[in-house]
Amino acid sequence: MKKTPKRNTPALFAKLFGAALIAAAVLVSAVFFIYVRPNRCTPILMYHGVRDDGSSSLFVSPANFSRQMAFLDEKGFSVMTLEDLVKDVKSGISFRPRAVVITFDDGYEDNYINAFPVLYKRGMSATIFLPTAQISRDKGYLTWDQARVMAKGGIDFGAHTRNHAYLPDIKDKEELLGEVEGPRRDIEANLGSPARFFCYPAGAFNEDSKKAVIEAGYEGALSTNRGRSRSNKDVFELNRVKVTDSDMTRPMHFSAKISGYYNVFRKLGGKSKASWEDDKGGSQ
Ligand SMILES: [Zn+2]
Repeated sequence: MKKTPKRNTPALFAKLFGAALIAAAVLVSAVFFIYVRPNRCTPILMYHGVRDDGSSSLFVSPANFSRQMAFLDEKGFSVMTLEDLVKDVKSGISFRPRAVVITFDDGYEDNYINAFPVLYKRGMSATIFLPTAQISRDKGYLTWDQARVMAKGGIDFGAHTRNHAYLPDIKDKEELLGEVEGPRRDIEANLGSPARFFCYPAGAFNEDSKKAVIEAGYEGALSTNRGRSRSNKDVFELNRVKVTDSDMTRPMHFSAKISGYYNVFRKLGGKSKASWEDDKGGSQ
């Protein structure tokens, strides 16, 4: 007489569960090693104003800025210059552990009053991108005298057009040239050496503006988080990570932003388009 084999249902379930777990682990590892890890890159932090003004997500309070810089120091991060990062990218190094680059857009006077003393005290470098027509002219913006003081204290100055122009809208060649080449010459005339790096207002560029930037002699250009390159392999469309005031009240956010993986996941989340307000913001 044939015996009916006993079905050991719990054992079968455990086997299936184990196999599913292994498959999931293999899949997660594959995604990590094939997609996430190769796309990580040394984060370029993007700041604008450093002031007590909650009217825009572009402004970080002086207290939180100071805490963010202290956090970098405590965690053993080094602050690289943009020049060194561009050298890295050109030689195929896209990521350095525990390293960041610090940038500021728009040349606000509060950079001199609130950010520079903190950076100087900690021996940190940064690049400030100037809309050069507004410097020493508009209220709330830096003066060339202030820029000269900062240049002696380890701050590098880059170009952010002359009039904070939205480059993809400029159809006239001469006008485009003025906004791209002009600030390089303005910075040379006022600070002694031409700007080496360019930053697209609102991170916005097209083929014409990118070409104009390359032809003007810049060594690299920064966007926000637009562009085709996810991992900063093209020095003329470098992505950045926007730092906000609340990043320090929710410290995990700041940790994520300085991890080198932030833009990879941000792109996966489909939030890669920055708006004009993302850059301009505020009342100035
Ligand atoms: Zn700007």
